[in-house]
Formats: sequence, structure tokens, C-alpha cells
Amino acid sequence: MIENSFYLEVNRDAILHNVEVLKSWKQKNVIPVIKANAYGHGIEEMTKTCIQAGLDLVAVARFEEAKMILDSPLLGEVLGEEVKFQVLVFESILDATLLGEYPRIDVAINRCSDFQTLLEKGISTKRFHLKLDLGFARNGLAESEILDIARLAKEKNLVFKGIFSHLFAASYQDGLALAKIFQQTIKKIGTDRFEHIHLQNSAASYNYDFDFVTDLRVGMLVYGLQEPGYFHKELQQAFRLCGGVDSIQAGDSLAYVAYESKEDMEMSAKMDVAKIKIGYADGFGKQNEGSVCLIRGKEYRIIQVTMDNSFVEVDDRVQVGDEVELFYNPSIVKRDTGRQIYENLTILSGRLPRKWIGEKE
Ligand SMILES: *Cc1c(COP(=O)(O)O)cnc(C)c1O
Repeated sequence: MIENSFYLEVNRDAILHNVEVLKSWKQKNVIPVIKANAYGHGIEEMTKTCIQAGLDLVAVARFEEAKMILDSPLLGEVLGEEVKFQVLVFESILDATLLGEYPRIDVAINRCSDFQTLLEKGISTKRFHLKLDLGFARNGLAESEILDIARLAKEKNLVFKGIFSHLFAASYQDGLALAKIFQQTIKKIGTDRFEHIHLQNSAASYNYDFDFVTDLRVGMLVYGLQEPGYFHKELQQAFRLCGGVDSIQAGDSLAYVAYESKEDMEMSAKMDVAKIKIGYADGFGKQNEGSVCLIRGKEYRIIQVTMDNSFVEVDDRVQVGDEVELFYNPSIVKRDTGRQIYENLTILSGRLPRKWIGEKE
């Protein structure tokens, strides 16, 4: 370990625990959403953990993300050919050569033309997840298109891997109405033509219980990140962002901290300045200036963020080598940076090491 370096520690046991909690919560299967580098946690280790948890389906936003997982040597080790494991990609993939090369990719059918193109190219509908547009001007099949598909499904006796939608609603009642439309559409095509029926992201998982849904399609909750305003007390946050104090300079000897004068930063003369080795090139941006970190159980103010280092106002309790924890409280992160914790995590760069820990290797 390099001295006092910063890293994102991820507890594999917490994620395995969360998967179990989520499964028993609504008695549903779980499709972990591992896009955006598994919300910053590290997509390869996260995939490995999902396989360990016995899950056979995960979801990502882009083809490139699926490719990264499926090309990873790490996955080669845990993924025997006989293991059932698919990666659903939300964006449309219409290239039959790629789909032939990556048989573990499941495809989202976002438009009627996706359906026709892939059918003509001989891709099995057992890899299709039909995406229903519930009228929010996002992508997805409109209801009339679904009816065409329903007719074809009956004619050719097609079966699909899944059907899904994104439950976006301003109010609880609107959400219920949309879920009803979704359910009726599934009935028109034939419920038993689908192995997976999934509608809810994390927020919608708290809000609704639907009998007809088979899986929760959740990102935040598998990592133990809670939506503001909701709380499931059994879920455990999996990450810790930490490192050590690299050096300390006495406050009264300094006129400048990095490139800014101390006066401009409203620093009191008697405070010392600790340097920590994380900066905006690690994805720890300037929005964190003015927020706080935790050292020896006490909050200290982050006064400056530069490309490679950040500076913290400390007192004489703090020593070189002490552990510094950042983002230790998601509500404080939101209050100080104006961004949700997942937004802060997904922008952490590849330079910041991810260190997966836990008993269950
Ligand atoms: C990102 C995403 C999710 C997961 O959302 P959370 O709020 O993190 O649970 C689910 N479904 C789709 C289509 C997504 O793009």
C-alpha cells in the first residue's frame, strides 16, 4: 500500500447482505443495476459479487459496459460456461455480429424497429427484454407497437426473456395507474411469455408492491445507498472513501494554501492545514470545498481541492497518518455539495483505487 493514499473501500459482505435483504423484502428476485462502474464501486468486482450471490441477471446502460464485464479475465475465473449469467443492456444494440460475439448480452427492445431488425437477423427472442414506454417521452415501445408484437408473438409462438418499464410518476396514484397499464399490456402479449417482469428502481421499490412483477431492478439499494426521505434499516452502505493525512503545516506559518490565499478561504490563523492525496482528477471535485471530512471521530472542514490533493483545516489533535474519511454521511454530502451521494460516487475516476474487502471471497 502506498503511504496515505486514498481509495474506495467496498465491503463485499455488505452487498451480499443487501441482496438477501432485498430478495426477502418483497419476495422478488433482484436485478442489480451495475452501470456507471457499479455506481463508482468497481464494475468487475461487483459483477463477481453478483455471481457469488447466485444472481443470473444484471443490468447496465451501455454496450461498452457489458463488453468490459464480459471481456474481464476476473469474470473468466468465476464464470464457467455452464453458469447461467446474462447482462441486460438498456440501450439498443442492433449489430447482430456483436450479439453473436457476446451471447451473454440480453437486449432491450426500445423501438418496434429494434424488434424487427433483430428478429430478421436471427437473434433469439429469448434474449429480448421489451421496454414499454409509459408516456414520459423517454424511449420505449408505445402501446400500439406492443399490440403488433403481441400479434406476432401469438402467430410465431415467441417467448421473451423479459418485459420492463421505468416507473416515473409525480404522484403515488399516477404510479399506480401506470403500473396498471403495464400489467394490462403484459396480459395482452401473454404473461407466461416472459421469464422476468421488472418495473421498479430503488425509489419505486419502497413505494409499491406489485404481485405481477418478478424482479426488482435496483441500483442504489444494492449498494446500501438510500433515497432521501426513505430508509430501510437493514441495508448496509458498502463503501468507505478513505486515506491518510499526508502532511500537516502549521497555520501561522502559511500565507497560502495551494494556490489560494488563506484570507480568501476565511481560515482562522490558528488552524493548521492537513494535505490529503485526493483531488479533482480522482473525481473528488471542487464542489467538496466547504464540506467536511471525519478524522478521529471529529468533523474537519475541507478548504481546498486541487487536481491531486485537497486541504483540510485541522487542530492539534490530528497527526500525520491519521485516517481521513470522506463522504461518511450522504445527507451532509447533499447539503454541502448540492449533489446526491450517487452523483458524487459515479464521477470518481479510474485513478482512485477500489479496494474490495470482506470475509466471503
Ligand atoms: C439506473 C437505472 C435503474 C436503477 O435506478 P436506482 O434508482 O439506482 O435503483 C433502474 N432502471 C433503469 C432503466 C435505469 O436506467
